[in-house]
Amino acid sequence: MPRLITAVIHHQALRQNLDVVRKSVLNSKVFAVVKANAYGHGIERVYASFKSADGFALLDIDEAKRLRALGWTGPILLLEGIFSPQDLFDCAEYQLSFTVHSEQQVEWLQQHIYPAQFDIFLKMNSGMNRLGFKAQHYRKVWQHLQRLSNVAKVTHMMHFSDADGERFGQVGIDYQRTEFEETIQDLPGERSVSNSAAILRYPHQLQSDYVRAGIMLYGSSPDYPKHHIQDWGLAPSMSLRSEIIAIQQLNANESVGYGSSFIVEQPMSIGIVACGYADGYQRMSPTGTPILVDGIRTRTIGRVSMDMLAVDLTPIPQAKIGSEVVLWGQSTTGTILSIDDVAAASGTVGYELMCGVTARVTFINQD
Ligand SMILES: *Cc1c(COP(=O)(O)O)cnc(C)c1O
Repeated sequence: MPRLITAVIHHQALRQNLDVVRKSVLNSKVFAVVKANAYGHGIERVYASFKSADGFALLDIDEAKRLRALGWTGPILLLEGIFSPQDLFDCAEYQLSFTVHSEQQVEWLQQHIYPAQFDIFLKMNSGMNRLGFKAQHYRKVWQHLQRLSNVAKVTHMMHFSDADGERFGQVGIDYQRTEFEETIQDLPGERSVSNSAAILRYPHQLQSDYVRAGIMLYGSSPDYPKHHIQDWGLAPSMSLRSEIIAIQQLNANESVGYGSSFIVEQPMSIGIVACGYADGYQRMSPTGTPILVDGIRTRTIGRVSMDMLAVDLTPIPQAKIGSEVVLWGQSTTGTILSIDDVAAASGTVGYELMCGVTARVTFINQD
């Protein structure tokens, strides 16, 4: 029998979340962001539920090829563009649109003498300061691209650093938006600006012909704890589930796990769960991280080890070997433990947890 830990992918939730994107931005085309193997869900697994998107966005050409192998014939956008001049052959063969964010990439494009028609997303650095051209160079590059015979179409693109935060005014979203809009105001071409946080929080303030929806599709709130997934109508698309494999009765002053970091003050029943950091559960998750046993919320105790962790069974006296444990997501009885709650307790974000589930965990599809 395989180990008991599974990651259940909920297709109904994936479809519901895509629907939330659609309804938030009725006039935009929706690119489903499936980078990092669909945020850890598996591109092949999510594909059926995201097929109604207008396009897919990701980073790796190998992932783009996997989408083509699944039969996807619509747009695919490479969010970081090409990494070598050879990539242009793949872009031509697989009809991949790509971001252009550096002079180096423009040069490669210019030197590519083979017949091709590329669909380009020109990236402006409006303040994030990772990729893209600063406003004063952006227009020159745009004009340069217009003169290249292998450039068919240029879309204006930028990325917000603070769409999920509380920085407005001269910093954050307003500053970046102004920078972008002033720079491109008289240039023709469509625009792509919004990520999940911008889609949910500024659906009417931003003109984004192509939105790039990532984390919200997977049932994590981009601006947690200000908003929880329920506030946005999102549902968890991944449930990491395991079982209780042992129960211990601790007396006062006894401890559990490595380092004896948790010592009980009064007698307590604890459950040992078949899940550890080798499954992708964070070792840094402290005592008190929320967890469900038989659909009832309780807390982890002590240190997370490689293959196991411990839970407080005080609220679940009926728990037994084989009781269902939900590390994040939903229980079979329908109780939800949002990945955001677990991530916040662990000092991280839902993105990192869902991307971190390891290869030894069995994935299961569920409608
Ligand atoms: C990852 C990514 C997105 C999606 O962001 P979410 O916060 O997951 O919605 C959008 N645009 C770019 C350029 C990205 O790299």
